[in-house]
Amino acid sequence: MNIGFIGLGNMGSPMAINLLNAGHHLTVFDIVEASVHQVAEQYPQRVKASASPKALAQAELDLIMTMLPASAHVRSVYLGPDGIFANCSSKTALIDSSTIDPQTSRDLAKVAQDQQMVILDAPVSGGTAGAQAGTLTFMVGGDEQQYLRFKDILSLMGKNIVYCGGSGNGQVAKVVNNMLLGISMMGTAEAMSLGVSLGMDPKTLAGIINTSSGRCWSSDTYNPFPGVLENVPSSRGYSGGFGADLMLKDLGLATEAAKAAQQPVPLGSLAQQIYQTFSLQGKGHLDFSAIIQLFQKQ
Ligand code: NAD
Repeated sequence: MNIGFIGLGNMGSPMAINLLNAGHHLTVFDIVEASVHQVAEQYPQRVKASASPKALAQAELDLIMTMLPASAHVRSVYLGPDGIFANCSSKTALIDSSTIDPQTSRDLAKVAQDQQMVILDAPVSGGTAGAQAGTLTFMVGGDEQQYLRFKDILSLMGKNIVYCGGSGNGQVAKVVNNMLLGISMMGTAEAMSLGVSLGMDPKTLAGIINTSSGRCWSSDTYNPFPGVLENVPSSRGYSGGFGADLMLKDLGLATEAAKAAQQPVPLGSLAQQIYQTFSLQGKGHLDFSAIIQLFQKQ
């Protein structure tokens, strides 16, 4: 296939490489030229650099994928006279894997429908390690036939490709899961800190929680207390995981979506405020499990 890829950052770059590893031809664009060169130099025969989203959209590709930071970037790349929609043939399908608010995905789907074009929202979980290993989970919203049509392509970058329903539902699954993760991480951090302050050994405490009713992914797979588990960010200075600022972004998407749906999310809102405080302290670059530092003596 001839595939366009816009957004070659921490996630997009390894995802693009996995498409290239499978033999596809890529036309790529990123506002950072160095990111384009880094991908192009690995497969000079099969990677073309494009000058803009407009030029890429005009290249008559089979599929364009986007992996951008947030809703504003996605809107700027898709909409307006220089955007994908204004310059793309209806034969080119579109897949946006950025994590953005469900309403923006639904707005884009409406534009696509008006132009007889296909767009799927397909945000991912699994982090940069999953992007490199090709083991991401894709949560896909949009037309089911189109999901089935592109499932094999997404399988080159992920191992779970899950259909979530109509447009925007991929984003709904993603932001709701991450809201729960933010809440459960804070609960685990609070409980671990209290238990240790009251005299428990952290590993013994984690062992009890993990065989009792308090067990969750944050306690048994990604424990925030340093030294409890090996090979997790808390045991290497909270480096190299899922940044607290990215968690803050996803909590913001969840609380905004909740406002629009008039659905109360008191714990999600509290988690957002606490991650906001953490970010203001200049710690947003640390892994999100570092939130435990708010509950510990420094
Ligand atoms: P990133 O900031 O590393 O990459 C984004 C890329 O988009 C950058 O290379 C940037 O230069 C490029 N870009 C920005 N504006 C652009 C524009 N107008 N045109 C073209 N390129 C543009 O971010 P990332 O970590 O790769 O994340 C991408 C998306 O995936 C985000 O929505 C994020 O929430 C989501 N996500 C990230 C992770 C993670 O662990 N990093 C995990 C799951 C989902």
